Amino acid sequence: MLPTLIVLLSLAVSVLASESADNVAKELSREVQEEFSGRDYRDELEFLKKQFSSTHPRNDTLIRIPNELNINHNHTLFEGDIHLTPEQWKAALDIDPSTRRRRQAIYNLTQMWQPMGAPVIPYMFVQGFRELLGTIAYLGSKTVIRKNSSLPPEYSLTSTQYQQVVKDAMAFWSSRTCVRFRQAMNNDNAFIIFNHNAAGCSSSVGRRKGGQYVNLEAPLCMTNSIITHELSHVFGTLHMQSRVDRDSYVQIDLTNVEQGMDHNFAMEPSGFSTYGLPYEYGSIMHYFPYAFSIDPELPTIYAKADFLRYQGSMDGPQATFWDTQLINKMYKCTDKCAKQMPCYNGGVTDGASCSKCFCPKGWAGTYCETRPTNAQVINVDTTVQKVKLEFGVMEKGFEEKLVILQAPAGKRMEAIVNSFGPHRFPGCRNIGLEIVPYTDTRSAQLRFCGQVPYPSKPIYTDGNTMLFWLYRDINLPVTVEVSVRAF
Ligand SMILES: [Zn+2]
Repeated sequence: MLPTLIVLLSLAVSVLASESADNVAKELSREVQEEFSGRDYRDELEFLKKQFSSTHPRNDTLIRIPNELNINHNHTLFEGDIHLTPEQWKAALDIDPSTRRRRQAIYNLTQMWQPMGAPVIPYMFVQGFRELLGTIAYLGSKTVIRKNSSLPPEYSLTSTQYQQVVKDAMAFWSSRTCVRFRQAMNNDNAFIIFNHNAAGCSSSVGRRKGGQYVNLEAPLCMTNSIITHELSHVFGTLHMQSRVDRDSYVQIDLTNVEQGMDHNFAMEPSGFSTYGLPYEYGSIMHYFPYAFSIDPELPTIYAKADFLRYQGSMDGPQATFWDTQLINKMYKCTDKCAKQMPCYNGGVTDGASCSKCFCPKGWAGTYCETRPTNAQVINVDTTVQKVKLEFGVMEKGFEEKLVILQAPAGKRMEAIVNSFGPHRFPGCRNIGLEIVPYTDTRSAQLRFCGQVPYPSKPIYTDGNTMLFWLYRDINLPVTVEVSVRAF
């Protein structure tokens, strides 16, 4: 009986929401168009477009894996995949006439899960979800696969239980934050419902009264990256490129944005706290660079001139160190700890446990003082060495391999990606090689997945260590070869 009531309730809300949605879309579009007009803006954009076309030759063999934005394609969602409450829609329309900007951040009207410091989110699956079997990242007719690229049949056959993919995503967040999940009970007054029957992948932002859907259309939304992204919205986050400081990092090309979709690029008013965390292109909450594009081979989001190297590294496969810190700060996860841990190498007190550190990539141990046991360590000297990384047939929903390259003290290293194949992709969300050339490994770094021509431009380290992280959450094989040398 409970689920029926929720469906009726949410129908009533969605009628109300779609009326407001049209008005909100119009207002936000105006805001976005005013922001991205003017001569300075146009000159900069021309420069960025020229840079892009000179470094990214058109390639019609690239495989485009759908994400929550192009699966949804829905005008009535906020920022492409978010359901707002009536109060949040209203806030989006509350414009200050003098600044012509929204007075209130959606964020200020977002309810957090309780209790702070140890939030618990009750969940349930809609009927039928439990038995649902399918392929990991099914590449069916809805996927736009470019001509000249076909998939070997063995890579579209692996069956998995979708419920497990969702449970893995919940366990992932619980293992690194203080957020916990438990099965919903009859007297819960707020809970999430994983729904595979809806169209698209979407969620509310934060906690609502009554049940709220996390829509995961099967099979397209059943990837680790999409589910962890939607769960981050459930916790209360919006997208990275709507932060108030985004104009220092990205430029939007509205001439390539589909009609009626401008509003998705609106910036949150200053009430949206960044919690002092850095802007991160590789965040799991960043749009991919072709979001809402008319020409699928040209970006709508350009990394600004100082950050051109991150153009191909937007969006991500898994919550990063900073994505995790955001949740831990929002929920004050470590405030309850008697003391903060003395962590090495950029680590911080773990949101999931007061007695250990949460470590940046490439570090492990109670204090982030050691290397992860599953990492492969390769010593590099001044002779060129070829490092090959690969994945064959997939065994679980998210797979990763970490290689630590170590040069003698006082040396630096050079890396050149020689090849990436057999399939190549315009965005590295689902599959790719991340190269971390910096001693500080907290931020997501340079990702390669086949878009730029190979061999790549050389990458230089700032010290004598470097990380290679190969990852995938779709069932496609990959082989990468990188040349490294110390100097
Ligand atoms: Zn989203």
